[in-house]
Amino acid sequence: SSGLMHGKRGLVMGVANDHSIAWGIAKALAAEGAELAFTYQGEALGKRVTPLAESLGSSLVAPCDVEDLGSVDSVFSRIAEAWGSIDFLVHCIGFSDRNELKGRYADTSRENFVRTMVISAFSFTEAAKRAAALMPSGGAMLTLTFGGSTRVMPNYNVMGVAKAALESSVRYLAADLGPDNIRVNAISAGPIRTLAGAGIADARFMFNFQRAHSPLRRTVTIENVGGAALYLLSSLSEGVTGEVHFVDAGYNVISMPRPDDIKE
Ligand code: NAD
Repeated sequence: SSGLMHGKRGLVMGVANDHSIAWGIAKALAAEGAELAFTYQGEALGKRVTPLAESLGSSLVAPCDVEDLGSVDSVFSRIAEAWGSIDFLVHCIGFSDRNELKGRYADTSRENFVRTMVISAFSFTEAAKRAAALMPSGGAMLTLTFGGSTRVMPNYNVMGVAKAALESSVRYLAADLGPDNIRVNAISAGPIRTLAGAGIADARFMFNFQRAHSPLRRTVTIENVGGAALYLLSSLSEGVTGEVHFVDAGYNVISMPRPDDIKE
């Protein structure tokens, strides 16, 4: 470790367990000396997240369900009390009713559309506004997206629409917060076996397909995402904002598989 994040503090939202992308990011940041606060959704996950947080030396671990804006406010006021300011925000939160992560997008219900948008897209804007208030001398923010935002993936459905909104939010937030020296970026990760990933129908097929058809002939790990996150949250990327950075073994550049790859 070169201590790239030494003296930097930040909040990581979205660790559920040690398979979570947020956990891969937290490990990469902590290894470079960052001091981390964590949020968890509900007490059941709190029992998993608290020991993980402690293993990285974190003592600031707070419940936060982004559907309850009061719990978001209380996390940021706890951080303000404990630290006064932060240097970075990591948002790895997404949700949709799994009954609508299959079949046709056209069948999405209004209720789940709104809920998916609020949790998976707008919660980043709400967190970003509160985090920015704690970044008097600048900072960096990161959220997680997926290529189903711009191109159709079977079953990803309303989540793809929410990710499109999230990616657009990244650009608008980058413009709003840039004058305050706050950078806002997203990582578009390839499929990874996580709790959230398992909610998508035929997730295993998507995983295997992308592995077979990516330039690198593999899928990515949470450690791969952690490395890119370290770049986007550290001084290494001081000239980068409003960007959606793919960490997907190159899958997004492929238009069609090679004929030999699809021989039955
Ligand atoms: P995960 O299940 O480990 O993490 C999802 C997190 O979202 C959990 O910690 C969960 O508690 C949290 N969450 C859901 N609803 C919430 C709410 N109302 N309030 C607070 N937290 C809530 O799965 P993951 O794959 O690590 O997901 C993290 C992010 O990465 C998500 O935005 C997901 O869409 C994105 N992503 C995942 C993949 C993949 O293949 N796994 C690929 C690209 C992007």
